[in-house]
Amino acid sequence: MIKNPETFTIITFGCQMNKSDSELMEVSLTQEGFVKSNNYGDIIIFNTCSVRKHAEDRALAYIIEARNTYRQSIIIVAGCMAQRLGQELRSNYGVDLVVGPYHSPAIGSIIKNYIQNQSIRQYTSQDASDFVSRIHPSLVAHKDELPWHKWVTISHGCQNYCAYCIVPYVRGKLLSFPSQQIIDYCTLLIDNGITEITLLGQNVNQYGQDSGDIPFYSLLEKVASLPGLYKLNFLTSHPKDFNSEILHVIKDNPVIARSIHLPLQSGSDTILQAMNRQYTMKHYYSLIEAIHALLPMVSITTDLIVGFPGETQRDFEDTLAAVRTIQFDEAFTYKYSPREGTKAYTLPDSVPDTVKQERLDLLIHTVRDISRKRLMNHIHTTTDMIVERISKKSDNEVMGKTIYNQPVIIKGGKEDIGKKYTVTIVSVKGSTLYGERSA
Ligand code: SF4
Repeated sequence: MIKNPETFTIITFGCQMNKSDSELMEVSLTQEGFVKSNNYGDIIIFNTCSVRKHAEDRALAYIIEARNTYRQSIIIVAGCMAQRLGQELRSNYGVDLVVGPYHSPAIGSIIKNYIQNQSIRQYTSQDASDFVSRIHPSLVAHKDELPWHKWVTISHGCQNYCAYCIVPYVRGKLLSFPSQQIIDYCTLLIDNGITEITLLGQNVNQYGQDSGDIPFYSLLEKVASLPGLYKLNFLTSHPKDFNSEILHVIKDNPVIARSIHLPLQSGSDTILQAMNRQYTMKHYYSLIEAIHALLPMVSITTDLIVGFPGETQRDFEDTLAAVRTIQFDEAFTYKYSPREGTKAYTLPDSVPDTVKQERLDLLIHTVRDISRKRLMNHIHTTTDMIVERISKKSDNEVMGKTIYNQPVIIKGGKEDIGKKYTVTIVSVKGSTLYGERSA
């Protein structure tokens, strides 16, 4: 092992929650005097994902290569795979330190301790007292990819135990962070020039149910009313907990994006029940109706899984029918991937891969078709957008996102980045809207 390690690299896999955790790790390492390196450094951290087998295999390939190539570096696995595989990573892959999600924001002091005495090599306990908070004022100075935007994690973990999902096992039960801390942190962000915030949790709608804090709609309302905010987003919702109070808060606060991500997963009640999703299609349709009744212009997006154990052709057709009826603006579609430790793992993976692929292809085709038609509905409408970057196709054009979180191109230059404009949509090319700035 390198005697006095100085530099570190973090390689992040998986979801936004992991990206946010990597930010916290970077802050923790910097506070302990380590220096970030763009190449593999003295300390190499893999912040991993376990949601799909493919994600774990990919991370393992990186870990094996790093161990073989950088024999003197300290190799650390953090995140969900660290929690799931623990000791196995140390015994079979030569990993020096394993740090689960409860501990990862304190990784700087964990590494310092390891360098000094190497006595503890695994941090995977999930005792409430071991949980390191995600709300950290030092993150204010840490820029997101978009310098005016910040992800704000409002809760950690999940206790819904959807049958296919590994998250409750690797991230632990729901832990909501104190609302006042969240609001103070958002205020601090806005005071420091942040104009767009995304509230983040595995199921934000369940916020406060574990701690007795204010409900999610109330937190959403409080953050939305902070002066200086251009746009507020939230991810992810769960149909069993999404309610009309949340919708009313969206309706009354124009700063909240008109974009609701409501994972459906399957259009078949039989499969929804097998997935332990705890809602029926009747309930889901009633939510869609309520959304349209209150928010005439809104983008509704979803997640869908094909090939869950026991999914018949009829079940799949129910999913297609739901997609056609609801007319999602966008859907993220996946083939079912068995995860050891979940309830679905004990069920026979009964749908052959070729059938899963056929279903996925048809679903993607259907979603794309609808998505394009939905985009056409925006032509001649006026909407707000925030400019994100110069367009890839032309230096005289910029790309931003509308209040529906859809990409839109307008004429502009570098000086427009981060600015909010009102635009009229004039055309659609591929899956991109084109607009003109209103005078
Ligand atoms: S709500 Fe279900 S799918 Fe989402 S994180 Fe929790 S268990 Fe996983």
